[in-house]
Amino acid sequence: MLYEYNLSAQREDFYNITSQVREAVSKSGVTDGIAVVYCPHTTAGITINENADPDVVYDLLLGLRKAFPVHAGFTHGEGNSAAHLKASAVGSSATIIIENGKLVLGTWQGIYFTEFDPPRNRKFYVKIMSS
Ligand code: ZN
Repeated sequence: MLYEYNLSAQREDFYNITSQVREAVSKSGVTDGIAVVYCPHTTAGITINENADPDVVYDLLLGLRKAFPVHAGFTHGEGNSAAHLKASAVGSSATIIIENGKLVLGTWQGIYFTEFDPPRNRKFYVKIMSS
């Protein structure tokens, strides 16, 4: 089963999409399997990280901006190479185990859509497979 979700990403941020992924699992009826969350964009991504302390997301964004600043030597005409770099560093998908009808996530883990070139209307996919 494939589920598509839309997201209005107005700023560079980590958007918590855990509830949408849980909804896809629930709709699918799959109790044992795999969920693949996938981002079809080149300046956005998917990652799993802490969902308890919002300072973690703040620090992740700070660290990514520091690691991948806008560089005068970039040649890509669209002018958003820093966003492409951040997207590649984060990755475009996450795979989560489904056991007993639930996502196997750690207590502090959340699933995030990461936007690096706002504002954009984005989409992401959740593919649910039974094992
Ligand atoms: Zn570009």
